[in-house]
Amino acid sequence: MPVLDPASNTVIAHVPNTITEAEVESAIEVARTYKAPSAKVCMAHRQAGDNKFSLQLRADMLNRWNDRVLAHIDDLAAIATLESGKPLREARSEVLYAASFIAFFAGEAIRTNGATIPSPHLQNRTRIWTLPVPVGPCALITPWNFPLAMATRKIAPALAAGNACILKPAPETPLSALALAHLACHSENEGIAEVRRVVPTAALQVLTADRVHARDTVGRVLMRSDAVRKLSFTGSTAAGIALAQQAAGSVKRVSLELGGVAPLIVFDDADIDRAVESCMQGKFRNAGQTCIAVNRIYVQDSVHDQFVEKLVRKMEALRIGNGFDTNTTIGPLITRDAVDRVASVVRDTLASGATVVHQATVSKGVLASGGNFFPPTLLADVPDQSALFANEVFGPVAGVARFSDEDEVIKRANATSAGLAGYVFTRDVGRVHRVSEAINVGMVGVNECAISNEVAPFGGVKHSGIGREGSVHGIDEYLDTKYVCLGL
Ligand code: ADP
Repeated sequence: MPVLDPASNTVIAHVPNTITEAEVESAIEVARTYKAPSAKVCMAHRQAGDNKFSLQLRADMLNRWNDRVLAHIDDLAAIATLESGKPLREARSEVLYAASFIAFFAGEAIRTNGATIPSPHLQNRTRIWTLPVPVGPCALITPWNFPLAMATRKIAPALAAGNACILKPAPETPLSALALAHLACHSENEGIAEVRRVVPTAALQVLTADRVHARDTVGRVLMRSDAVRKLSFTGSTAAGIALAQQAAGSVKRVSLELGGVAPLIVFDDADIDRAVESCMQGKFRNAGQTCIAVNRIYVQDSVHDQFVEKLVRKMEALRIGNGFDTNTTIGPLITRDAVDRVASVVRDTLASGATVVHQATVSKGVLASGGNFFPPTLLADVPDQSALFANEVFGPVAGVARFSDEDEVIKRANATSAGLAGYVFTRDVGRVHRVSEAINVGMVGVNECAISNEVAPFGGVKHSGIGREGSVHGIDEYLDTKYVCLGL
């Protein structure tokens, strides 16, 4: 199937399309054969003078992958920019972000500890302990907006926990996933010791497919399989619900990281320059195509005009163009459909009473490139029920509304079925606690929008998802707890 460059809509590569159920079944069979480094491998290594215990071998495998990812940062960034359109500078940051999950879970691999539990039985006649065990083959389904990082955020903890993975990347961005798998598993011209430290091919398979076969072939077969024990999905709420329903048939473990409509609340005691600066990042990173993107900006009456004025000034400095152009800060949207969708959100929002405060112009040269460009746009007086505030816009459109007091804005921020991220700008320490506790989301940024990293638990509440990725909690999603009771 063809892969398109969103900056020109020209074909940049072809990748295999998984069109038969048999291909998916055989990938599942291969995944079932995978045995994570075990005590037996450990003994063999010891005999060879390699004094490492088995979990350390999992860590070694991940560390080696991490080294290779970092060594190929320029290639990976170029691939991500080519197929997703994001500015090259952002793609480089994504490589580092992606690598951070591999390094973090290499560390966690050796800390998958069980517990010993005091016996409740008479005369202490039993011993009780737990063993963390791999859940089994994992289906990992990722979106196109962070084609590298969303893959490693799932693969790294799955491998660290001892599981085999079958990754289905987004149809728009399969090349980043294939490049990551190549770096993980490929061992050309390397000595036996090095080969031992790469990821076995049975542990990481990638099935690429177009939209229809992703759903009807790969998704369907993975979800109905009893052998696949875990689904980790990042994408739209509708797709997540559909997959979770299918996964229920074989009682799989499910983690879902779905959409959000993040509020950004600016109180009148905030550092307005800082709020504007953070808002620019939280709104326009990856052209607004992030699940934690600022979606609803609420500004307190007395600082509203000042905030809007400063935001416009910053927006005027955005540069729209091809991600490979070093001046570009806003690349194309992922598809032509995405441009049409964002345009219709803007139209509907204007029809419901909002006004345009600023809209950038896309240069003739950029327009002539045939890419999926949409100009950064700022709307004011946006009603809460409008298309822009009620949905995840996933584009470079910022919308501002006024509010007058704390209780009111908390109610409005919470009046949604989504609950991924929320941002609060204030210098009142009491308010920091009150508002961060009151907003119904999985993640809160206080005076900060750059909240994603490998050490903190990423995830949402309500329709924004189940489970957490990254952090010490991220590996739990890939482990079962087996309990052993020994009678003495
Ligand atoms: P978007 O609309 O941004 O493409 P989706 O949620 O549709 O987001 O897609 C995210 C990922 O989930 C992609 O890899 C896509 O192919 C995959 N996907 C969507 N629906 C299904 C499904 N029913 N079965 C399997 N994969 C799916």
